[in-house]
Amino acid sequence: MSNEEPSHVIDVAVFKEMRAGHTVYLDYSKNPAGFDFDELPREAQARYHSEIKAEISSEERSRSPLHRLREINPASIEWLREHGVDLEAGDRIELAPAIQHFQGGVKIRRRADTTIAGLYAAGEVAGGQHGANRPGGNALMDAQVFGEIAGRSAAEEAGTLGLMPVGADRIARWKDRLNALADRTHGLPASQVRTRIQTILSGCASVVRTEKGLTEGLSALADLKAGGIHADEKGWAFALETINMYDVAEMVMRAACMRDESRGPHLYFAHADDDHPVPRNDERWQRTIVLRKGRDGMIPEARTPVRPEEGM
Ligand SMILES: Cc1cc2nc3c(=O)[nH]c(=O)nc-3n(C[C@H](O)[C@H](O)[C@H](O)COP(=O)(O)OP(=O)(O)OC[C@H]3O[C@@H](n4cnc5c(N)ncnc54)[C@H](O)[C@@H]3O)c2cc1C
Repeated sequence: MSNEEPSHVIDVAVFKEMRAGHTVYLDYSKNPAGFDFDELPREAQARYHSEIKAEISSEERSRSPLHRLREINPASIEWLREHGVDLEAGDRIELAPAIQHFQGGVKIRRRADTTIAGLYAAGEVAGGQHGANRPGGNALMDAQVFGEIAGRSAAEEAGTLGLMPVGADRIARWKDRLNALADRTHGLPASQVRTRIQTILSGCASVVRTEKGLTEGLSALADLKAGGIHADEKGWAFALETINMYDVAEMVMRAACMRDESRGPHLYFAHADDDHPVPRNDERWQRTIVLRKGRDGMIPEARTPVRPEEGM
């Protein structure tokens, strides 16, 4: 990887190896071919020096990643040893990409309110606060800032909405729904359904996204949903949350399939084996995708983002 290449090339490379059935490791015992500490960019070297905990000679520093880790983060070597990975004995660390933050979510307005009266959202469940990407560290600030806004807004509104009327027909519908979930001869147990949803999304909606993969993912999800679900030992709430996951999974895949460019962590490839994703297309895609519930299913819409001065 050259200094000019974006860091996602590592995510893509790891993802492709895993897709091919391989396991990927981080090996601290030897330097990458051609590595020269003194050739690192000046900022990287300055950052490294600011992290030094136990200074070693420059010769030792150049010897291996393990030597450098010993210099800047000796505690991590100890922590890993306590957890069964002994880098000093030559153990390697198994790698896999993971989701650190979800940029999408429930659309909120200035007061953290949503289109459902009385419902507020804050933190990672809300969407739109960060645009297409999130500067590192901003998720916790987002949760705190919008958490306070949502709490204040909800407190101001408390008592003004009154109780939500719940008719007998609605209660009867829920009773039927729960009775159907209890029928263990119908469909798959909720735990298995959840695992399958996760497998579908990890395969087509994580690091490498393509139209073909996402279309296949949507079709696999529709088949899974049609096959039915029943509550298992994890209980009713788990089963009901899993049913909601059908919708969340469909929203993620529909939106990802619609955005045929790359932006932020959304890497859209023309073909799954391509080395580089389709580039960003501002003219067509400086848009927010909003999904709403229509009479016949989900309606995706690409909208021009609202600027704060235009009101929300
Ligand atoms: C490995 C990793 C590293 C990260 N590093 C950083 C970082 O350095 N800086 C940064 O800013 N952000 C970081 N993030 C992101 C940040 O941690 C999250 O965005 C943030 O914690 C989300 O907070 P939240 O309160 O919105 O959601 P959560 O922390 O997910 O809280 C949601 C809570 O709701 C509960 N819940 C779920 N369903 C139900 C239900 N049906 N009923 C009742 N409760 C329910 C869950 O158990 C959970 O406790 C990192 C994330 C990961 C995974």
